Amino acid sequence: MTSPPIYLDHHATTPVDDRVLAAMLPYFNERFGNPASSSHLYGWEAEEAVTQARQTIASAIGADPTEIVFTSGATEANNLAIKGVAEANMARGKHIVTICTEHSAVLDPCEYLASLGFEVTYLPVDRDGLIDLDKLAASLRDDTILVSIMAANNEIGVLQPIAEIGQLCHDRDIYFHTDAAQAIGKIPLDVTTQHIDLMSLTAHKIYGPKGGGALYVRRRDPRVAIAAQLHGGGQERGRRSGTLYAPQIVGMAEAIAIGVAEMEAETARLSSLRSRLFEAIEPLGGVTLNGHPTQRLAGNLNLSFAGLNGNRLLRSLQPMVALSSGSACSSATAKSSHVLRSLGLSDDLALASLRFGLGRSTTAEQIETVAAAVVSAVKELRVNEH
Ligand SMILES: *Cc1c(COP(=O)(O)O)cnc(C)c1O
Repeated sequence: MTSPPIYLDHHATTPVDDRVLAAMLPYFNERFGNPASSSHLYGWEAEEAVTQARQTIASAIGADPTEIVFTSGATEANNLAIKGVAEANMARGKHIVTICTEHSAVLDPCEYLASLGFEVTYLPVDRDGLIDLDKLAASLRDDTILVSIMAANNEIGVLQPIAEIGQLCHDRDIYFHTDAAQAIGKIPLDVTTQHIDLMSLTAHKIYGPKGGGALYVRRRDPRVAIAAQLHGGGQERGRRSGTLYAPQIVGMAEAIAIGVAEMEAETARLSSLRSRLFEAIEPLGGVTLNGHPTQRLAGNLNLSFAGLNGNRLLRSLQPMVALSSGSACSSATAKSSHVLRSLGLSDDLALASLRFGLGRSTTAEQIETVAAAVVSAVKELRVNEH
């Protein structure tokens, strides 16, 4: 009997937590109502569940429930934030600032806006993946309407200084959007102390169901104007039409509540597992850590193996380990990761990289197994390639 692959791809997605699934189940059949149906019990039950979930999600980030807009995930939330702000504020200016290491769900909407005549500045990052606040300050102009900088990177786990970025933006009356898909439930987030105006969330990176997310949109000091990107029934105060997916929303709220409640203990546990994995692999030599050594997600370890072919290494670890080389989005193609190249890595070294994404189900025993497998695979490949 073969055991299932060890899952170390938690940045791509996560399994739904049993507690989350249990919270969701009644809303598929027993309490199946449309939250917008205001004339009967079925609608009221669903509406009550959505209201409760909205409250839970808002309080996890220090927001007001009216500031939460449910979406189909972080991709849609990023599109609504960036294109929505651009469309509603172009009379004030058409300049947007973002960074080179963003997810394609931020980069592509920016590129789309550039094709419509907006101007986009892509700030570089240093070798550790962090932005330079002075460079950010220097990039801001009178016609800058939006700064979009992610909280936690999906490939290298790097945490940007979002409170400082938010302060800079607010001092200049520029909206600050952050893609927090990888950050929610893993690092503390507070829209007030971190001066965040818009924040994208998704459920499936934190043990919630796929296909659902939210956008936080500030309503006071300043009130952020966004233009809807989906038009229809006028749900979500007209900001995003479409029948609310109540089971998904209930699940996302439960996932976020659990993530926040267990954040401290889980961060400590994952940090120690990640250190163990790194310490077991590093003695091989020719191994470099991508991303800042401490300013990073606890569950992320991104390593480059000089002189090796990352895909060959990945294949020699299959089917025992499930993980990615580069980002999940680019792992189907042989193109090197734009994030790793932004750190200054050559194409070859970027292609010789593995992303270990540890998570809630990861055990110490699994880490020992994977470490041993990586060590022997690397040794074998090095013998064969010389
Ligand atoms: C996964 C991810 C997204 C996309 O989220 P979906 O909910 O899958 O659309 C966006 N940004 C980051 C940083 C991500 O990790």
